[in-house]
Amino acid sequence: MTVRRAAELLATARQGLALTGAGVSAESGIPTFRGEGGLWTKYDPVKVSSIESFLADPAAYWRVSKERGSIALAARPNPGHEALAAMEAAGRLAAIVTQNTDGLHQDSGSTHVIELHGSGRMVQCLECGSREARADVQRRLDTEMPPHCRSCGSIFLKPTVVLFGEPMPAAALNEAFELARQTDVMLVVGSSLVVYPAAEVPLLAVQSGALMIVVNAEPTPFDRFAEVVIHGRSGEVLPEIGRLISG
Ligand code: NAD
Ligand code: ZN
Repeated sequence: MTVRRAAELLATARQGLALTGAGVSAESGIPTFRGEGGLWTKYDPVKVSSIESFLADPAAYWRVSKERGSIALAARPNPGHEALAAMEAAGRLAAIVTQNTDGLHQDSGSTHVIELHGSGRMVQCLECGSREARADVQRRLDTEMPPHCRSCGSIFLKPTVVLFGEPMPAAALNEAFELARQTDVMLVVGSSLVVYPAAEVPLLAVQSGALMIVVNAEPTPFDRFAEVVIHGRSGEVLPEIGRLISG
């Protein structure tokens, strides 16, 4: 039984580590990028999500981001997020490294969350550096397109997420790699594992001797390196693993 084996590994983990991707939030109603129904079956990612296109035309960026933002801001954690938070509280996971920018891990009670791609909850002015809650900017998008900085009037107001062509936050990346070197059980959830350097986290963990568990709706390129592979929905599989750990 793969679910039972996953629970056994986590129950005895000295320092468990999770890496999550868009799939963990799919059951909260946030579309993934790749995979069935993924956003990139609708949009060209480099066109809508690169720093170059943002700088060339902030309004075009915000028109697409407006729809996505209203979904993400209204989303609530699902049983998958909750199961991960419970695993951390029970000492089975030391941290969650996430590629998501939706803040749902924190909402579900996880405390040690490393955001590799930034946070969609804040917006920052590229000219004066002032920050504002995304929710406040979201409210004025109906009448203000593109939105302007409240402090300096600039139109270069950008969510604090990492766009294509932007560097990853170095401190978060270093911390993620350090945790990957130390972990003995690496749990990967809802990630296609094709975006680097995020995908290097589980690779480094396995190379450093960790056993890996993959929970994903579809096969991933790393399945062959995993001790346990479960193809299923994280909102169903993770609570099941959680019940077996505590039971
Ligand atoms: P991805 O879209 O590339 O892959 C998602 C994976 O999750 C797919 O393999 C899919 O089969 C799987 N999946 C879908 N529904 C699932 C479910 N219910 N349970 C388990 N697995 C499920 O996502 P990724 O690997 O995170 O790609 C990285 C990029 O996506 C990052 O740049 C990240 O910032 C961005 N992203 C973030 C969000 C968010 O914040 N929620 C949403 C979409 C994309
Ligand atoms: Zn400004």
